[in-house]
Amino acid sequence: MAHNITLIPGDGVGPEISLATQRVLDATGTSINWEIAYAGADAREQFGELLPAATLKSIRKNRVAIKGPVTTPVGSGFRSVNVALRKELDLYVCLRPCKIYPGAPTIFEKVDIVVVRENTEDLYSGIEFERGKAETAKLRKLVAEATGDKVREDSAVSLKVISESASRRIVKFAFEYAKANNRKKVTAVHKANIMKFSDGLFLNIAREVAREYNDIEFEDRIVDNLCMQLVRKPQQFDLLVLPNLYGDLISDLCAGLVGGLGLAPGANLGDRIAVFEATHGSAPKYKGQNKVNPMSMMLSGVMMLKHLGEVKAAERLEKAIAGVIAEGKSVTYDMKPDSTAVVGTSQVADAVIERMRG
Ligand code: NAD
Repeated sequence: MAHNITLIPGDGVGPEISLATQRVLDATGTSINWEIAYAGADAREQFGELLPAATLKSIRKNRVAIKGPVTTPVGSGFRSVNVALRKELDLYVCLRPCKIYPGAPTIFEKVDIVVVRENTEDLYSGIEFERGKAETAKLRKLVAEATGDKVREDSAVSLKVISESASRRIVKFAFEYAKANNRKKVTAVHKANIMKFSDGLFLNIAREVAREYNDIEFEDRIVDNLCMQLVRKPQQFDLLVLPNLYGDLISDLCAGLVGGLGLAPGANLGDRIAVFEATHGSAPKYKGQNKVNPMSMMLSGVMMLKHLGEVKAAERLEKAIAGVIAEGKSVTYDMKPDSTAVVGTSQVADAVIERMRG
């Protein structure tokens, strides 16, 4: 039976890598009915909404989507469509496996780390108080009355919200994933020495959940120490579980360990819905140039095929991508330190398809 999948091309380099990914997924022989839907600035131009109701409806109906990156303006302008999508559909897990494929541009050997990032709260709650606004003055007053602490008058404030329920479900997911995928160790990452209540709660819940999984090793790390250890000795880590913001930062760091953002796939998962997407953003400076690496989104496609139960197709596609990386001929600029003899986005798709046929 054909799978109905929502495809959101996104903006910036999104449409190019989405097309390349759609082509290789079709070439696996998996029967997919693609339903194209839109999000972001382009969607606002066309439909008057950043996240059109039709897009949400399509994802809710199909329960599986794959999306290209979507630009979020920095400092001002509209709020992140990606964050809105994750919250709206309660996609509380951001799953980002980072492993080295032989031939990838990295100084390390055998890094294989799974990043499990909480996806709905923390400093991404979107609850912010702008400098100079009446509600900010109210908040300052409340803080002064409740704690005796003084927030400077010229402050802007963003709330870091960590709940027991969201912490518990993400840590549980991390352990269940570890169990199902033969992972030996879970590391909870925090800054509970400083943020005793918010990160402290996350850590306490992680310790509590860990007691239910005696056969999986558990440890915790303070996030700054983790950064140093990741760049010194990444092989010691297996699965990391983190609150939202640290998860965002550490995902990019781990992408760097395994060869860069061109090789870092991901999935946003809820209890019923899954939206697959690369870790990287829309890289607007490369828009329309047939330049960037489509492999992160293709590898997100591999994760999607596994999620759909199309395990053989997933393995075939992953093997073909790994073959193209190992051969090193049909790869994009980011895969070669001197950036010579490289090909474009669509030629990578050609090479992957060729390998699956060969
Ligand atoms: P980015 O990830 O888009 O790109 C940073 C740099 O990494 C690029 O300039 C490029 O040099 C490299 N890069 C990224 N993807 C690559 C690829 N596939 N192949 C080769 N090189 C690649 O980060 P940014 O420039 O900070 O963000 C651009 C926009 O993307 C922002 O508006 C940001 O909000 C948005 N963003 C969206 C998502 C998402 O849609 N899920 C995720 C992260 C960032």
